[in-house]
Amino acid sequence: MTAYKDRSKEELLQEKSQLEAQYKEFQGKGLKLDMSRGKPSAAQLDLSMGMMDVLDSFTDLKCEAGIDCRNYGVMDGIPEAKRLLGELIEVPADNIIIYGNSSLNVMFDVVSHAFTHGIMGMTPWHKLDKVKFLCPVPGYDRHFAITEYFGVEMINVPMTPQGPDMDLVEKLVSEDEAIKGIWCVPKYSNPQGYTYSDETVRRFAALKPAAKDFRIFWDNAYNVHHLYDEPQDVILELLSECEKAGNPDMVYKFSSTSKISFPGSGVAAISASKANLDDLRTHLTIQTIGHDKLNQLRHVRYFKDIHGIETQMKKHAEILRPKFEAVLEILDRELGDLEIGTWTKPHGGYFISFEALDGCAKAIVAKAKEAGVVMTGAGATYPYKKDPHDSNIRIAPSFPPIDELVQATELFVLCVKLVSVDKLLE
Ligand code: PLP
Repeated sequence: MTAYKDRSKEELLQEKSQLEAQYKEFQGKGLKLDMSRGKPSAAQLDLSMGMMDVLDSFTDLKCEAGIDCRNYGVMDGIPEAKRLLGELIEVPADNIIIYGNSSLNVMFDVVSHAFTHGIMGMTPWHKLDKVKFLCPVPGYDRHFAITEYFGVEMINVPMTPQGPDMDLVEKLVSEDEAIKGIWCVPKYSNPQGYTYSDETVRRFAALKPAAKDFRIFWDNAYNVHHLYDEPQDVILELLSECEKAGNPDMVYKFSSTSKISFPGSGVAAISASKANLDDLRTHLTIQTIGHDKLNQLRHVRYFKDIHGIETQMKKHAEILRPKFEAVLEILDRELGDLEIGTWTKPHGGYFISFEALDGCAKAIVAKAKEAGVVMTGAGATYPYKKDPHDSNIRIAPSFPPIDELVQATELFVLCVKLVSVDKLLE
């Protein structure tokens, strides 16, 4: 197939009329499909149903500390849950606080704490004229929503397959004291599926920020979410790298079992230096008498240890892998030679990131919607929902059954072609 850019105007017009006929056919099908959010499918949720049976009225419901998990007590997590989540986050159990059901909630709380009370005795951010965050783009919309909510000025930093542009990160954080944080999804990033290289992690650990209360918000949401036995991405552990570099307090690591067990009913945790955790505990003791220990106990009794989690993740991968491969096969087959888009081929995580021709993403998503396929809103992967190139579209293959996913992707590539032809004819 000849690339669109090398076709004559007549050839493009001919292509356009064929594509329009195909699009009409799709519209006639009355589709109602959703490729917008990165939710596990029902089949994936079924994998964890055994967890419902591990606690019953005959079970010993005391945790290792001898506390009855049905009652108040143990504010920052039962010991066995700290051990399990510690293995997941790759830090010692002492460096963990277990929270409630959502890591995003923890991120919100940490930012809120910084605004109202300040980090480790420093000036509360609400007293400062300006607070800024670096935002590797494209990135996770809900991170950006938190900082937008608090009135933080967000600065785009381009992503590369090795992680954020570290020359820019180093320069900006060392020059500007108003920069207080950076949002990172370091492994199988949302939306590209990129994993930060060892060099990137070491450069993060060695940052010399102008602000003493600068923190790396390291959201390792997809640490064990591999699609394949081989290859699997591996990442250096940042907390210990920060200690080695003499910056032990510079990172908050976030994690949860949301896409391991049940999103919305999993267990979330933060890991950081002792000084940071003590600081967060001052907030936590006011906020709650304790999180849901029965859920913590359920998770530990069901998974037992990291090997139990790994076995579970292989089962998730068996369901997810064919979906990713189906989408990638269609993208390759239909768009491979046309030079109207590029896309990532992740080894894990929940998303594929698609780059259309500049100025086309919104129109592609709108066209897909008109024919019954909902995609993540164009722009959602950028702060303030403003993609400066209007080119990025996040594809989320996990939720729909595979036959629907195939139909939705066939329609998506058709919309990419149609909008690109129009662009080239302009
Ligand atoms: N972090 C990232 C990068 C995510 O993609 C998601 C969910 O899609 C979350 C956090 C949400 O995690 P939780 O369910 O623990 O709040």
